[in-house]
Amino acid sequence: MNKFTTDSVIAIIGGTMGAGIAQVAAKANHQVLLFDVAKGAAEKGIDNIRKGLGKLVLRSRMTQLELDALVSRIVPISDIKQLSSADLVIEAIVEKLEVKQMLFRQLEDICHENAILASNTSSISITAIGAKLLRPQNLIGMHFFNPAPIMKLVEVISGLDTDKQVADNIFELAINWGKLAVHAKSTPGFIANRVARPFYAESLRVLQEGATDIATIDALFRECGGFKMGPFELMDLIGHDVNYAVTCSVFEAFYQDQRFLPSLLQKELLDAGHLGRKSGRGFYQYP
Ligand code: NAD
Repeated sequence: MNKFTTDSVIAIIGGTMGAGIAQVAAKANHQVLLFDVAKGAAEKGIDNIRKGLGKLVLRSRMTQLELDALVSRIVPISDIKQLSSADLVIEAIVEKLEVKQMLFRQLEDICHENAILASNTSSISITAIGAKLLRPQNLIGMHFFNPAPIMKLVEVISGLDTDKQVADNIFELAINWGKLAVHAKSTPGFIANRVARPFYAESLRVLQEGATDIATIDALFRECGGFKMGPFELMDLIGHDVNYAVTCSVFEAFYQDQRFLPSLLQKELLDAGHLGRKSGRGFYQYP
């Protein structure tokens, strides 16, 4: 199994997280192919990268030339078959086991047999995704945090059949991309999301019990707890579709342990289509 170099082609599949990861890989001088099943989504992701980096240019933290060079390394792809040259594919699509399994199975037919297939899943078992693949040894979890260009941590998650060399190569790649990498086994929610579940769940319970309002809870964690964001601000950033799916996945994986019971409050937001920042409304309103 070859190690990655800047000549390695990196393919990213997905939306919000996908664009962020594409930016990280392009910053590390890789040629990046960006694909999303929704028409125009890859182009929109690249536009967002350009807008975000534009702010750095205005603050003189990056030159316009550097911005243009970085963005030019990301190529939007409209047909998944064009990912055949990829040495690493990182998937960041909807948080559903069957959909991810189908995508990876399709990628096995498209990509060369040494290509590493990585999932940015927040909670789904890498072992379970791999169970439907021809080469589960080449499947790994590469879990970035939101926003991917800013957040340092990358969890490198091995399923039962993941090759150790694959895990080591991905770990090294994450370090070369300026991240803080940690090896983890494919347990429900892995490390950070498992530990964070009670943070969201208890905040939602405190709110439901009427102890105080969301702004007070958020301010308390931000101003006094040393957190960058309070729990409601963070759930709005993650997206209630994603956060709710992760909670359900961890709840099911632990045989419906009541500690991980999904909140009806969050389900209500999801049903209303108030997904957080990405839809303009969640616990808060966004312009
Ligand atoms: P998102 O809804 O912004 O993006 C998902 C994208 O996947 C959409 O653009 C959709 O068009 C595309 N898609 C769906 N099915 C597809 C398919 N079969 N083939 C190609 N594209 C497809 O979601 P997101 O917030 O970026 O989350 C994506 C993944 O990243 C999830 O697995 C989630 O658990 C994980 N993740 C999310 C966060 C977060 O804070 N949002 C953080 C870490 C990890």
